[in-house]
Amino acid sequence: MRILGIEGTAWAASAAVFETDDPAALGHETDRTPDPASDHVFIESDPYQPDSGGIHPRESAEHMANAIPSVVDTALAHAAERHDGDGPIVDGVAFSRGPGLGPCLRIVGTAARSVAQTLDVPLVGVNHMVAHLEIGRYQSGFESPVCLNASGANAHLLGYHNGRYRVLGETMDTGVGNAIDKFTRHVGWTHPGGPKVEKAAKDGEYVDLPYVVKGMDFSFSGIMSAAKDEADAGTPVSDICVGLQETIFAMLTEVSERALSLTGTDELVLGGGVGHNARLREMLAEMCEQRGAKFHAPDPQFLGDNAGMIAVLGARMLDAGDTLPISESAVDPNFRPDQVDVTWRGDDES
Ligand code: ATP
Repeated sequence: MRILGIEGTAWAASAAVFETDDPAALGHETDRTPDPASDHVFIESDPYQPDSGGIHPRESAEHMANAIPSVVDTALAHAAERHDGDGPIVDGVAFSRGPGLGPCLRIVGTAARSVAQTLDVPLVGVNHMVAHLEIGRYQSGFESPVCLNASGANAHLLGYHNGRYRVLGETMDTGVGNAIDKFTRHVGWTHPGGPKVEKAAKDGEYVDLPYVVKGMDFSFSGIMSAAKDEADAGTPVSDICVGLQETIFAMLTEVSERALSLTGTDELVLGGGVGHNARLREMLAEMCEQRGAKFHAPDPQFLGDNAGMIAVLGARMLDAGDTLPISESAVDPNFRPDQVDVTWRGDDES
């Protein structure tokens, strides 16, 4: 089966074609430039970059309107070249249905519907946060991991129980990447701030910031205010970056450990763009090692928003017959992972 995936929930527009007969190739044969020898392809545009401030929904939607047709065309052209001539060039079209910015999602949904109708193939509506989890499960081969999604607009822990991914814990205010980006905007750095915090933290000294975990939930707003106050008071920004990383990632590590303990699972996967951060991965890996659990962080190209993860989960959903009639395919900016009926896992998987 060959499936087209389309992603464009916020700032990164991409399209991927995933061939299920050759799944092992996915991790290393996908790239911006199609490899003529590979059935897989993963085409990304340059991400939307705000001139100042954070993501502006209208501007990012304009970016999607320009970028989505071109990444989809390139991915489909590659699929057409590899096609043996029988049947449609892809067997289905999967798209990010939510959560995300409404104006961006609507462009992605429109593109997916028009390709599915033109090729007369099924449409698959993928929950973007479940895709962040499933790409880690797919690449690691883990059976039933707990997943820490640490992305721009979200931060939560998911665990599978009785046919759904349950939200075991989550942020009580902003997503983790957005929280970091708010601080970096305050000190005048351009978006995205996360990689700059990681770089600056290499030369800093630890600064104490509020640590807020309540049961399985956590909050970032107090830390951000305190970090901004430190910057305004003249504390070196590199020191605050160390404090931010150590505090925020210790909170995420604590709740991840609690989720492993609560569920009795010994597998943890990481998802989301903040997962690029080496210090976060180090803390999670160390915690897992100490309790004899396994830890997996997907390859970097599958951590942030990417169409590869949409195509991989879309293929599993299509295989399970989990498709969407066009008339019911409206996007959902607030689509929560626990709203998804997990149709693609066997009954024996608890
Ligand atoms: P969502 O997936 O919830 O819709 P999103 O699309 O905004 O969110 P992602 O693409 O998953 O997010 O991740 C982007 C975020 O990751 C940004 O906030 C960015 O600052 C952060 N980020 C990227 N690299 C790093 C890093 N090395 N350290 C910390 N944060 C990082």
